[in-house]
Amino acid sequence: MPPSFDFRVDDLTGAREELREVVKNSGTALTQTGEAGPSLLPAQIDAPPLGATFFIETFGCQMNAHDSEKVAGVLLGRGYRQVEDLNSAKVVFYNTCSIREKAAQKVFSRLGEYRKHPGHGKIIGVLGCVAQQEGEEIFERAPWVSLVCGSASYSKLPALLAQLEAGNRRVTGLDTDTDETFETEITRRDNPFRAYLTIIEGCDKSCSYCVVPYTRGPERSRSSASVLQEVRKLADAGYSEIQLLGQTVNSYRDPMLRGMTRGMTFAELLVAVAAVPGIRRVRFTTSHPRDFGRDIVEAIDSVPELCDHVHLPVQSRSTRVLRSMQRTYSREEYLEKIALIRSARRPISVTSDIIVGFPGETEEDLADTLSLLDAAQYDGVFAFQYSPRPNTSSLQMADTIPEQEKGRRLAVVQDRQREIQIVRNNELVGQTFEVLVDGASRRPGQWAGRSSSNRILNFSSPHSDLLGQYIQVRVTGASPNSLIGEQVISEQVV
Ligand code: SAM
Ligand code: SF4
Repeated sequence: MPPSFDFRVDDLTGAREELREVVKNSGTALTQTGEAGPSLLPAQIDAPPLGATFFIETFGCQMNAHDSEKVAGVLLGRGYRQVEDLNSAKVVFYNTCSIREKAAQKVFSRLGEYRKHPGHGKIIGVLGCVAQQEGEEIFERAPWVSLVCGSASYSKLPALLAQLEAGNRRVTGLDTDTDETFETEITRRDNPFRAYLTIIEGCDKSCSYCVVPYTRGPERSRSSASVLQEVRKLADAGYSEIQLLGQTVNSYRDPMLRGMTRGMTFAELLVAVAAVPGIRRVRFTTSHPRDFGRDIVEAIDSVPELCDHVHLPVQSRSTRVLRSMQRTYSREEYLEKIALIRSARRPISVTSDIIVGFPGETEEDLADTLSLLDAAQYDGVFAFQYSPRPNTSSLQMADTIPEQEKGRRLAVVQDRQREIQIVRNNELVGQTFEVLVDGASRRPGQWAGRSSSNRILNFSSPHSDLLGQYIQVRVTGASPNSLIGEQVISEQVV
């Protein structure tokens, strides 16, 4: 998603117009994932160490955002207090993204700020992909950093924090050789309505342009039993929408626990999560085309709680470019998956990611990608300029397309997709969607919410206190990135 690309998936239709505020102000929840205790955290914790307020800034994807929620849970569990203002924090963590160069640069610009304030007295930690990628070099570039920890080592965070509390000056967690997932007893969730839940970490694919397998380590799935236990607790805590996360969420492999003859498939897990009492919506992202099968479409078709939206990144339509990207599918195979989704009994919205300017991409390849946009009729596309990344195999290929030309190609793709969305969204005028209300405007009577298909609807209603409610909204207008509507008021209510 734009500034931080994975939120783009969530913000599928982009602009929220005036409706922004509320979620932030409508409270956050602490949920416990362990066996014992109530789902809301009692405030009884030992006196905070090291001072001890913390601030986390998160860059990048939804998985990073959710990792930050869990990191916050680890700190809260140790008696720290989270603050919204960097200046009043004793401990500052940057949870970083290095998927593209610009994202990686951001954290160094943040760290550079401390050079101007040598007496800041803060403990600074760098987490996530840049931490993994740059490792101890970060100490060289920013000697005021005390902790560097990649996401594959987050299970060591409590021990690393304990070392800092004991007075250690520098600590690192940089192993990627792990079969552990990052599970915490307490998670501080930012969104009061939708809970994110990572079911698979890391990635075993090796797309030639991508740093993720290097920065997040090998693929490892969380057991279905533990996922379902957490979903039940989330439902008890009042969450009705669950979003299952993974870089390749549908590559999920249920680890075999003692006594099991076989684990759940991803589609079976979706159905089981949807069956938890209190859960009304289940989303999942990101799906890899190679592992996307008919069973997922059948599950969506037969279980109304499974949201009718699939994010299925194609990256390019050119088979030659796909091969060079090591995407493990041809354009025909990808189009078969789209056809499978389109054959569902209920309409399923489809979104995608596209990279332009990959080494060797010709005008013909670009034309091929544009024709895919016409054929696939996506409901949203997140397009990126190719960015050469360290430790990736495409680094060996000459980055042949000048940045200016990459920018031009990006604009061409975005313009074509915008035209498609204008037409598709206008076709929805007159239809009614069930919306989970998650935002309110300063203007009275104006609200925002999402449909199951992840469309953003900005709508009017005579009612107040709609936040967190599921209501019916009729579409009265459309823009490329969102829909406008009004609440359907049934005659009995009027
Ligand atoms: N695992 C997902 C998949 O296979 O489609 C994608 C996850 S990736 C973290 C998110 C998106 O970032 C990718 O779909 C791709 O479009 C984009 N991306 C990844 N590496 C990139 C690079 N080096 N340059 C530009 N965009 C990149
Ligand atoms: Fe990166 Fe490819 Fe893995 Fe997606 S599947 S995270 S693009 S390596």
